[in-house]
Amino acid sequence: MKTKFIFITGGVVSSLGKGIAAASIGAILKSRDLSLTIIKLDPYINVDPGTMSPFQHGEVFVTEDGYEADLDLGHYERYTGISTSRNNNFTTGQIYNTVIEKERRGEYLGKTVQVIPHITNQIKENLYKASEGCDVALVEIGGTVGDIESLPFLEAIRQVGHELNRSQSIYIHLTLVPWIASASELKTKPTQHSVTKLREIGIQPDILLCRTEKDLDQDIKKKIALFTNVTYDAVIQAKDVENVYEVTLRFHEEGLDEKIVELLQLWTKRPNLQKWADIVHSFNNPKDEVTIGIVGKYVELRDSYKSLHEALLHSGIELNLKVNINYVDSENLSDEEELQEWKKCDGILIPGGFGERGVAGKIETIRYARENKIPYFGICLGLQVAVIEYARNVLGIKDANTVEIDPNTKDNIIDMMEEQKQIKNMGGTMRLGAYPAVLVPGSKIAEIYGSEKISERHRHRYEVNNKYIPQLIEKGMVISGKNTELDLVETIELPDHPWFIAVQYHPEFKSKPGNPHPIFYRFVEAAYQHKTENK
Ligand code: GLN
Repeated sequence: MKTKFIFITGGVVSSLGKGIAAASIGAILKSRDLSLTIIKLDPYINVDPGTMSPFQHGEVFVTEDGYEADLDLGHYERYTGISTSRNNNFTTGQIYNTVIEKERRGEYLGKTVQVIPHITNQIKENLYKASEGCDVALVEIGGTVGDIESLPFLEAIRQVGHELNRSQSIYIHLTLVPWIASASELKTKPTQHSVTKLREIGIQPDILLCRTEKDLDQDIKKKIALFTNVTYDAVIQAKDVENVYEVTLRFHEEGLDEKIVELLQLWTKRPNLQKWADIVHSFNNPKDEVTIGIVGKYVELRDSYKSLHEALLHSGIELNLKVNINYVDSENLSDEEELQEWKKCDGILIPGGFGERGVAGKIETIRYARENKIPYFGICLGLQVAVIEYARNVLGIKDANTVEIDPNTKDNIIDMMEEQKQIKNMGGTMRLGAYPAVLVPGSKIAEIYGSEKISERHRHRYEVNNKYIPQLIEKGMVISGKNTELDLVETIELPDHPWFIAVQYHPEFKSKPGNPHPIFYRFVEAAYQHKTENK
């Protein structure tokens, strides 16, 4: 069967949850046993989403093959279980880069190189290649219809619809139907205008997903259908939900997947959404709660810790616990204020981070967790700082540091690998993507994984300096996991502490609702145990 395409555009305003919508549609189609891929087209010029600030753009998601992607790829993986790669995300910058390189190599034979057809052809080529072999390819176009920037992408997807048979591709448009309190009315005009904009560039949506805070009654749906030329049964309400895991269930209740398979003439089994019903039930009916403290630089923007946040919630759902996440900004609090914050927490997590000033605060936090036997989980920078803390306070190496913060430190307990020192470019130059690690038999981490051979995703430049390992071991730290090929520390733990584990990689990227990552699961469990024991 040739791949069928579902294009998802957004209108009226940004932040309507297009990524979650695409991922949720993917989840339903997957539960109908269709094989699928999801692709994100990003209209910005950056060639490499990894170099964009998490303040502006949210988390950088890392794929198995080491691509630094838009965070929507994280939603796609979590909801559908597919494994994404660099082929699941294209930016305008990448497309132009490819076309310009081809032009330089003379591949256009001296022709005038233009947006149509050269840029649009390149977009289509990438789309067709990335979706080969799948029943369905969901393609999410970033930005909002009407933006100048997304025009080449919209033109390219229009052309795909033109090239393929009618039942080979459909267009879903996500819009907003705002509730105007003063008039006590839902307003359809923004949706009408947004569809008009889309039709101006030649795309007639087949399905509308209407974000709304109130139920859309028949009359409103009829009105939207009439003005947008979309059939009545394809005007789908997407009402605000308590939690994002519900979206899958609500879309199905509204008949969205039935409409999709009808339009695409796909013959599939009925979807089985029991897993999502169980997740929602557990999430909405927790038996108790647990509080996890997270210290980091991007605390202002929760999206910059998206996968981390989700991974904690997945564990909570599985343990039937409500996980309260207490983000603490270690830079802006006095020591006393900070201590008060930590006292409210049942477990402490230090996530990944770059070039931070707040390291001193983090070291104090770790000392507090270590000495007071509070479950501690360090991820990437959270491992590096845990090793520095141990070196300073247990080994007595007072100036132990990472060269990231102090390039001239003599006690470079966290250092750069030789090969990294040669690299000058900023984009895509870290240790990135999946690397294997071997865990020490009998260690806590090996027990958690139930295996001694693992593979996890990385995104960092610095490593534990092997020179210091004998001293760390002598003073009780267990180097419980290593990359044996590159001879690098991957995991550490403290055996005389109830739960103190840090890892150089990012386990959060592989956690899924219904299948939480084992380290997160055991960390949340340990935090809850700490809470119940200290009541
Ligand atoms: N900044 C550190 C490094 O580059 C840690 C990176 C991270 O936490 N992702 O090694």
